[in-house]
Amino acid sequence: MSEATWRDHIALGAAADKGLHHVRVGEKYFGVSRLMYDLLSGLSSQNVPVDEAATLRHLQQTLSYGQSQKVYAQLQGFVAGASPSRSLWQSFLRGLIKFPLWRPSAAWTARFQGRILTPARVALSVLLGLASLGVAVVKSPALPPITAVGLGEVLTLWVLIIATTLVHELGHAMVAAHYGVRPRSVGVAIFFLQPAGYADVSDTWLYDRRVRFATALGGFMFQIYPLALASALWYATSNPLLGHYCLINLGYFVINLIPFVRTDGYWLLSNALGENNLMNKGTFTLRTLLRDPGQLGRMGAGDLSFALFGLASSLYVTGLYAYSLGFLWQLVPWRGNVPVLGVMVGLLLIGLIVREALRRRRVPRAQGVV
Ligand SMILES: [Zn+2]
Repeated sequence: MSEATWRDHIALGAAADKGLHHVRVGEKYFGVSRLMYDLLSGLSSQNVPVDEAATLRHLQQTLSYGQSQKVYAQLQGFVAGASPSRSLWQSFLRGLIKFPLWRPSAAWTARFQGRILTPARVALSVLLGLASLGVAVVKSPALPPITAVGLGEVLTLWVLIIATTLVHELGHAMVAAHYGVRPRSVGVAIFFLQPAGYADVSDTWLYDRRVRFATALGGFMFQIYPLALASALWYATSNPLLGHYCLINLGYFVINLIPFVRTDGYWLLSNALGENNLMNKGTFTLRTLLRDPGQLGRMGAGDLSFALFGLASSLYVTGLYAYSLGFLWQLVPWRGNVPVLGVMVGLLLIGLIVREALRRRRVPRAQGVV
């Protein structure tokens, strides 16, 4: 860490919202006053090293000694972030464990700025989407059921869908770039025990809500391209494999729109509501209620909605893991010899024990916003 400078950890937003300027320090996004914005901007642009003495020296040009120490402690906390085991557990709960493969450059971002969401391209996506839907309506009655396909075809479909998630994620990255937001990384991930692509476009938090909303839709815009190609081929050849691919691709639109995990539907909803911490508030309110059910009578409609959202989310996450385990189970040749329920309960118990162990090790950290 000694060679690192604040430039590696600070990202400054272009937008100001209710007098607060958007910034990122480490993995945390928040709004700060103009004074703090200028301080962070100075730390970043002057390449101040992350070490204590250099940072305090810089901060004390503006702040008192006591304030400087407080700010330094908070910044240091944001940069240190959560412990690796806790981060992994959080990723598991979110259903997404990421393996970055590529960090797009500033030049890559600049190349697509203002060039992706052109009216012609958006109109083309909508038309292709509607045409694909039409093909699905016309052709699916004659399509043999998915249970009739062999293991080889199931694996082919699986690979095609994984490739589709990569195209979808590229859509998020490209639409972010359209607004001048550089994607932090693109790669593969384990999404509810299944391989998938991912694009980290979280720096859209440095911009306004409209940018995040459009970026969340960008995945669909690109996912339509392989869908339209496969639909045209399905229409022309009536090949059942293509038919199943098209229906699964369309199914992913629907699943992606369910807002109870952090998929596109969640981001669309939270940005439409202007509620940035929907998931955290939901989980927190639900936990409060579980610890002290007596609170139920005292809760207002707002908190009650958060608790309901938290409950729906917890059930959905559990359901997705169960479904995914069930799918993988189908592929295990010796599954007849092991009791399914026993394995699932076993995995659940191991998960709970690991979680409890992590919770005990967790050191309480100071809370506060710079
Ligand atoms: Zn997406």
